[in-house]
Amino acid sequence: MIQLAQKIKELATTYTQDTVGIRRHIHANPELSFEEHNTAAYVEQVLQSYGLETARMANTGVVALIKGRNPESKTIALRADLDALPITEQNAVDYRSKNEGVMHACGHDVHTASLLGAARILQELRGEFEGTVKLVFQPGEEKFPGGASVMIKEGVLQQPAPSGIIGQHVFPMLPAGKVGFRSGMYMASADEIYITVKGKGGHAALPELNVDPVLITSHLIVALQQIVSRHASPKVPTVLSFGKVEALGATNVIPNEVKVEGTFRTMDEVWRKEAHRRIRKLAEGLCESMGGSCDIDIKFGYPFLKNDPDLTGRAREAAALYLGEENVVDLDLWMGAEDFAYYSQEVAACFYRLGTRNEARGITSGVHTPTFDIDEAALETGSGLMAWIAVQELEAQTVG
Ligand SMILES: [Zn+2]
Ligand SMILES: [Zn+2]
Repeated sequence: MIQLAQKIKELATTYTQDTVGIRRHIHANPELSFEEHNTAAYVEQVLQSYGLETARMANTGVVALIKGRNPESKTIALRADLDALPITEQNAVDYRSKNEGVMHACGHDVHTASLLGAARILQELRGEFEGTVKLVFQPGEEKFPGGASVMIKEGVLQQPAPSGIIGQHVFPMLPAGKVGFRSGMYMASADEIYITVKGKGGHAALPELNVDPVLITSHLIVALQQIVSRHASPKVPTVLSFGKVEALGATNVIPNEVKVEGTFRTMDEVWRKEAHRRIRKLAEGLCESMGGSCDIDIKFGYPFLKNDPDLTGRAREAAALYLGEENVVDLDLWMGAEDFAYYSQEVAACFYRLGTRNEARGITSGVHTPTFDIDEAALETGSGLMAWIAVQELEAQTVG
């Protein structure tokens, strides 16, 4: 196997300029979530040039199979996402976005180019591993309901059913050349909460004639935090934040209603639903007890992302072997959300981080900012490592 790792490394190096070219092409031509028509066509064209057959799913998603020896024996899926964000790029680079107001600011161009690079390597080495690698290029990660959920509904985890799925995501906090793993719960579910607290407005000097929704809301925001501090298990990370409170009264005017908007994030699906129930019950009870009422709308976002301990342990080991232990770090929990979580609810999953930072060259901007960019050395790591983790995983299943 060590020889195979060496071959993969050499191919990743040989193809690195092509992978960079692919990334730059995708970066310069970004498309918004579920509108990745040209990107999907480009991915198909590249895969076909490697001799692979492609199929469409979820309209702008692309799937292909790389068949090794004994292809029916097992399947492992590798996933990338295709969509960009509604951000105007501020980088002065020659691969700058040509689509004004749209930018690959979350590195999905990097994920797609890396997976295409991995596909090329795996296709070339297909006589040297057992089983099938399923390539999954999904649309719409950045937009609810998430391309992953659409792909799953359309059967991406069937025919053939993968025993596991692996995804990687750029991580500008980590230098290029390094990767990060975390076993078990890793990223949060994210739900949006909209509450309208209703009272009875009037002159601020005549409180006895009003039902003050501003005061009710003040109590409500404080009281709701007790769901986090008194009902959430200390072992389950939970965040409740309200970032928008709108009371359109005046110094001497009590408004009729107050609108409150926030986010609820956690890492347990049972607790998540229980917390929604408690938020509703507390808000309704509290508003009523103060003479008002409320409307509550809680919109379900992505579920929480759990990394399968066995699969993640093996992937981490494979990475340490490929890159050296000093280039593999353990990640902290992350309260952000990601639609890869849908796969992790269905099948053994591993979502790891690809370092893209280069402090010396000033490449440090965070994702979702107009100056986000990567050290493109990460593409050689991203393509080679993914190919290596896939063949290691197929091998691991063979032995049992
Ligand atoms: Zn993003
Ligand atoms: Zn992303």
